Amino acid sequence: MSEKERPLVICWFRQDLRVGDNLALRNAAQQSRVLPIFILDDKSAGSLRKGAASRWWLHHSLADLNKSLDGKLNLYVGDAAEIIPTIVKQHQAAGVYWNRCYEPWRVERDSKIKAALINQGIEAKSFNGSLLWEPNQIAKKDGTPYRVFTPFYKRGCLHAEPPREPLPAPDTLAIAAKDSAAVGLEELNLLPKIGWDKQLEPHWQIGEEGAKQALDRFLEDGLTNYKQGRNFPSLQSTSRLSPHLHWGEISPHQIWYETCQAEPSENLDHFCSELGWREFSYSLLFHFPTLPQENFQKKFDRFKWQKNDRLLTAWQKGQTGYPLVDAGMRELWQTGYMHNRVRMVVGSFLVKNLLLDWRDGAAWFWDTLVDADEANNSASWQWVAGCGADAAPYFRIFNPITQGEKFDAEGEYTRKWVPELAQLPKKYLYKPWEAPPLVLLEAGVTLGETYPEPLVDVKESREKALAAFKELKT
Ligand SMILES: Cc1cc2nc3c(=O)[nH]c(=O)nc-3n(C[C@H](O)[C@H](O)[C@H](O)COP(=O)(O)OP(=O)(O)OC[C@H]3O[C@@H](n4cnc5c(N)ncnc54)[C@H](O)[C@@H]3O)c2cc1C
Repeated sequence: MSEKERPLVICWFRQDLRVGDNLALRNAAQQSRVLPIFILDDKSAGSLRKGAASRWWLHHSLADLNKSLDGKLNLYVGDAAEIIPTIVKQHQAAGVYWNRCYEPWRVERDSKIKAALINQGIEAKSFNGSLLWEPNQIAKKDGTPYRVFTPFYKRGCLHAEPPREPLPAPDTLAIAAKDSAAVGLEELNLLPKIGWDKQLEPHWQIGEEGAKQALDRFLEDGLTNYKQGRNFPSLQSTSRLSPHLHWGEISPHQIWYETCQAEPSENLDHFCSELGWREFSYSLLFHFPTLPQENFQKKFDRFKWQKNDRLLTAWQKGQTGYPLVDAGMRELWQTGYMHNRVRMVVGSFLVKNLLLDWRDGAAWFWDTLVDADEANNSASWQWVAGCGADAAPYFRIFNPITQGEKFDAEGEYTRKWVPELAQLPKKYLYKPWEAPPLVLLEAGVTLGETYPEPLVDVKESREKALAAFKELKT
């Protein structure tokens, strides 16, 4: 059969921007010429359209994937349900293959697309490319989904069929000529207009090779001390794989199998269980599709969150007067990432000290995180707020002073992101308002001028939060 006579299959890339371990691509490549496509579908995403930092990442990730596909990746903007049938018709495609996504709006859209294609006699095949265990694989004995992490992971995942082994990139890949209707990368308008993205660049190597290198670095330097080290934001003990995983530049299967080559240890178990948290979040989102918008525990619907733009802006800008909170918020703004421990601290501060709605925090993270992920972000914010499944109980309020003293005792992380406090002795670093005037003077700190006074009193606001949360019990 000549190259032109081979049937053409469309490979629809989505959150699987890689050629290695990509089941949709491998299957498409086996018999057919492949037309690789990506559609920026903000219309179907609605209010969950990607935020600014994610769009920046996506721009570079698409450029990288395009290189791996000999410059033949076809880009489109618009409603996938309209675009796919048009491309199928134009190229007389025999099939459309993709790897599944689990966001509720995508599940709805993709099911419709699949049904419409099958109706027209077009082969529509989807594969699992981004979860170790898909949501319908893990259920309690009575068939209902787990709501608590430990049994989900230990009884569910670890007793289910082990994740499949990762597969290499296709040996041969016959890529179809470019579609003249496709648009250029610049036309996706993914980059911000104000050049704010320049500060993110030095922190990341975006793309499949960058993901592989992040994993290699973690296996060399991070894994051996992961269980303890992951709590300390100044250490490089975590993998920083989250944005690569979100965009599918690496699959969880590749991470799982490569990590499991290491000697068995509690560090390895702990790392695998964090991948398990990701699976849990996806399972929650799949089974409880309103997770990004609604309290998982309905009693929280009665909670009277404050609306206060002044407090919200101070938190967003890292100007709360609590150095660990400010360090985290500035790390986020400058790198598109924040260490997990600090995410918990800033989240708790927003919800339980400022009494602002967790959805306001989640929305800011959605816009500024390069790893913004509908499942992980929603589940984690609900966990911090205490209204989620298997959430931190409402009385668990992270104290930003003691958290700093415990997890950044020398202040390496905090001084880096809040340089105006760099000279403050560690005794006062997390409570500069207690420092004697001479100490402040010597450190070059003038409270209210070079660094803000605390936005609220943590003890008082904690009591207020506890009282408000207690009312929900009655
Ligand atoms: C308020 C809040 C919001 C968050 N929003 C997001 C988000 O939008 N996207 C996101 O990927 N993570 C989110 N997380 C979870 C976690 O903070 C990040 O996954 C982690 O910090 C990423 O860094 P890493 O890749 O170095 O993690 P590692 O410690 O190296 O973990 C490896 C992988 O496991 C997964 N993982 C680790 N911790 C968690 C967790 N608690 N929940 C779910 N998956 C986890 C991630 O995919 C991560 O890449 C949030 C946490 C909090 C408290």
